[in-house]
Amino acid sequence: MSILSDFHLHTRFSGDSTEEPENVINRAIDLGLSSVCFTDHQDFDYDFDDLCFDLDAESYFACMRELKEKYRGQIKVLIGVETGIEPYLAQRLNTFVNENPYDFVIGSSHIVHRQDPYFPRYFQGRTDKEAFEEYFQSILENLKVYDNFDVYGHLDYVVRYCKNKDKNYSYSAFKDYIDEILKKIIAMGKGIEINSAPYKYGLENPNPVPEAVKRYRELGGEIITVGSDAHQCRYVASGFDRICEILKSSGFKYYTVFENRKPTFVSLDK
Ligand SMILES: [Zn+2]
Ligand SMILES: [Zn+2]
Repeated sequence: MSILSDFHLHTRFSGDSTEEPENVINRAIDLGLSSVCFTDHQDFDYDFDDLCFDLDAESYFACMRELKEKYRGQIKVLIGVETGIEPYLAQRLNTFVNENPYDFVIGSSHIVHRQDPYFPRYFQGRTDKEAFEEYFQSILENLKVYDNFDVYGHLDYVVRYCKNKDKNYSYSAFKDYIDEILKKIIAMGKGIEINSAPYKYGLENPNPVPEAVKRYRELGGEIITVGSDAHQCRYVASGFDRICEILKSSGFKYYTVFENRKPTFVSLDK
């Protein structure tokens, strides 16, 4: 395997995972990874079911720092966070992120205009196209008012939860939106991630789709992290062989890792 860092991982510090961080680390060591970055959730005002996505940052840092020390010399443990962006949360998120020395911050769209696309009602009463457009539009709204993140998470994530999956989705069908988003992210000096989780939902493509990754490179995008979005340790680095091929065929020679919010570029052939 030539991608040796998983930069999108959840544990019991996320409302939707019960995994022990140590299991994730051990799985990563077994796989021969050189680093893992935990990115547990912080989604303010999540009131769509009874899960809670508020991160207990104090316990999180205490636990992760201990593990970082314990496994020093075996694997590098980095402490990140995945924040759910909505325009009205900009100030709260900014304060939250600045309160602790995260190595890496993913900014994601989980909630679209106060609706959660995870639930079927987001798609009800309209075409898939309309549902996808609203999602992309909301990313542009987020980018207008918020920039305290390093990469934008799983850019076309909404497709995962659509009843028809990606049947009505392609880069070319939403080119105008995706190009505008990618250009804006590059102009902001930020990056994107390529997220392999869709494979486990039975989808053909990662988030975002390979055509969007290629377009990002064409537009001058360089910062790209790789994440499994695993909520259970068995999915750590899952699909990374396929991701490596996509990155190479999109014109990337490097993938990106972060420490202290600073990017480093690692050869895909290493
Ligand atoms: Zn996410
Ligand atoms: Zn995630």
